[in-house]
Amino acid sequence: MTTLLIATRNAHKVGEIQAILGAGFRCRALLQEFPAAPVPVEDADSFAGNAVLKVRSLAGWLASSPAAQELEAERACVLADDSGLEVDALGGAPGIHSARFAALDSAQTGNSPDQDNNTKLVRLLAGVPAEKRSARFRCALALMPVGGTAAPQVFEGTCEGRIDLTPRGAGGFGYDPLFIPVGLEQSFAELGEKTKNRISHRSQALAKLRAWVRPAD
Ligand code: IMP
Repeated sequence: MTTLLIATRNAHKVGEIQAILGAGFRCRALLQEFPAAPVPVEDADSFAGNAVLKVRSLAGWLASSPAAQELEAERACVLADDSGLEVDALGGAPGIHSARFAALDSAQTGNSPDQDNNTKLVRLLAGVPAEKRSARFRCALALMPVGGTAAPQVFEGTCEGRIDLTPRGAGGFGYDPLFIPVGLEQSFAELGEKTKNRISHRSQALAKLRAWVRPAD
């Protein structure tokens, strides 16, 4: 059993990662279990850069916490996921600003509600024809053992698709109601967990991670 401490406040991400990796992995929500853990400002200019920044900071903090001995004994690793949506007609936006896309227009700090991000995206794409609304989700994962000293391992995945201007479906999170993966007609939110987790950016990146952690599986 491999223990992964997932460095996110997004419960959907933890659930998706556990569902994709399956029973050989135990995914724990790091920021819920260790609410005092400091979350660094994500100011790198790429998904991978932000994932590395998060994993280094949190693996280092855990290594000097009272839980260090127990976590190191079970060879627990910290896993950071930085992900987002790139829309070609918007020059790659929202990109690394996906979580706080709506807040970029105001003095607000922190992440924006999914609904506000989706409303902004639809507004910006109004009048752009369907064939020009190509987009992709990107996911960068950074993995580092608690107390590790080597550079974090990075695994990346992408999922190509397009943006629909009418939100559809109740599953998933974030931009899922607006994202139609290539070759399909339903949104990620309509397709449901099983299909999304087979083709998503996160599942592509996690397949690489699984092969690296357990090459024999
Ligand atoms: P992060 O938590 O800083 O990585 O921000 C990721 C943001 O990108 C989320 O708040 C979502 O808005 C969006 N995002 C990332 N992955 C997904 C996904 O699988 N579905 C829908 N939106 C996603």
